Amino acid sequence: MSDTMSRITLARRPKGAPVQDDFKQVTESLPAPSEGQVLIAVSHLSLDPYMRGRMDDVKSYAPSVDLGGTMTGQGVGRVLTSKADGFAEGDIVTGMTGWASHACLPGSDLRKLDPSLPPSTALGVLGMPGLTGWVGLHTFGKPKKGETLVVGAATGPVGSMVGQLAKSLGLRTVAIAGGAEKCRLATETFGFDAAIDHRAHDDAQSLRAAITEAAPDGVDIYWENVAGMLLEAVMPLMNVHGRIPVCGMIAWYGGANIEDSNQLPGMWRSILVKRLQVSGFIIFDHWDQYPAFLGDVGPKVAAGEITYLEDVAEGLESAPAAFISLLKGGNVGKQIVKL
Ligand code: NDP
Repeated sequence: MSDTMSRITLARRPKGAPVQDDFKQVTESLPAPSEGQVLIAVSHLSLDPYMRGRMDDVKSYAPSVDLGGTMTGQGVGRVLTSKADGFAEGDIVTGMTGWASHACLPGSDLRKLDPSLPPSTALGVLGMPGLTGWVGLHTFGKPKKGETLVVGAATGPVGSMVGQLAKSLGLRTVAIAGGAEKCRLATETFGFDAAIDHRAHDDAQSLRAAITEAAPDGVDIYWENVAGMLLEAVMPLMNVHGRIPVCGMIAWYGGANIEDSNQLPGMWRSILVKRLQVSGFIIFDHWDQYPAFLGDVGPKVAAGEITYLEDVAEGLESAPAAFISLLKGGNVGKQIVKL
């Protein structure tokens, strides 16, 4: 067993889109677990859009990463040494390992994984993003058969879960995705009824015309992953009593000045006159539903009724570039780093 480990730290706070020099890889001695802790060799690391927010020094729903601190993130790995009850060498576990080759974590912060499932699924379709889609759709989307749902970032782990669940409940599903290949995957792999390439549209009016064609009865559920031009395009198409689960706004994660948006009065008026339910939610508040989610979706994934795509980068050193690419839509499916 190696006696060193590597981790990727936040070297400086990005201005706008992150660049490689905002990260630094450091190598240091392998820590020894103290009583109650487990030492893990990380095999798979999850890269998620929320990590962009953690790089800023702003007040949010979770603390920022300190300068010099390890980039936050969930990993899966194998137990090397256990000083915690319930964990033994060789167990496959998941927890907040950070962007690191190894992690020493309390047993209470870890969950053992079912060894019959591919470990990476705990980070995507059967992990936090899958749960986000499942909880958010049922709790805030309130889908009804015959309605129409529109979702952006549609081939990602959240969007593809939302689309597949909505389709199985009898909704018309419209994917918004970046590029022809992702649009093909949206319809052929994830079963969306229609897919629109947002990159083929220069402005919200043009994108709105395409969505109008794909959603002739208007939009009952707009699942907000993206905001930006897509939000501007969809808002006038919302039906009365429509629902907007506000899950993410990746188009604005690069630091656009949201406060200055001159769209606000029009949006606010739409919410009132159309009696829209706009529900911001953070999945941290809903982890109690994880067992129910796993009970429902686990067998569907095993049976191939719910499918998923993964984009796998190789090696810890590839994490910064893979993350930078994810924020620009370079990922096709759930972005994983395999160590
Ligand atoms: P994805 O794997 O789908 O990756 C992000 C995708 O966003 C990109 O691939 C790209 O897809 C799309 N994108 C990036 N920039 C833009 C842009 N300017 N305009 C339109 N699309 C863009 O991410 P996830 O499925 O993991 O997450 C989806 C959303 O859900 C994110 O906003 C994330 O922050 C949010 N989220 C929220 C949670 C919560 O608790 N509220 C929990 C988990 C995720 P494409 O090329 O198709 O445009």
